[in-house]
Amino acid sequence: MRLFCVDKNFERFEDVTPKILKDAGVKLLLCDLDNTLRLHSEKEPADELVEWIKDIKEAGIEVVIISNNGRKKFMKKFCEPLGISCVWWAKKPLSTKLTATMEEYNFKPQETVMLGDKLTTDALAAHFAKIRAWKVNHRRNVV
Ligand SMILES: [Mg+2]
Repeated sequence: MRLFCVDKNFERFEDVTPKILKDAGVKLLLCDLDNTLRLHSEKEPADELVEWIKDIKEAGIEVVIISNNGRKKFMKKFCEPLGISCVWWAKKPLSTKLTATMEEYNFKPQETVMLGDKLTTDALAAHFAKIRAWKVNHRRNVV
């Protein structure tokens, strides 16, 4: 079904480089948190995540986490070291929070991408918001 299609597939979030984002004209990157940027067991951001966010921000691209996770305190604490805003209880596949964030930061749909691991929430919300859906594989421990 067309609604569950994604525009790009990546293995891990680290594969979405500032160059790829810039070449695709992305100015606002909306990111899912759980199993996209964060392993279920992680209480704080992994070093590679801190580094990745820093590189993207340095490239002049805005990053906002849009999560269905409803644990507000946890979310705030997790995102604080990353220096980015986060939206909790986003209720994806509803696109309300994606659209509200685009409006708040003053970016157009064509300048925005939603990156996430789930087709039924992240990709679908992206389609409803009329932005591109990029997918990463479910995050796992690398042994
Ligand atoms: Mg997820």
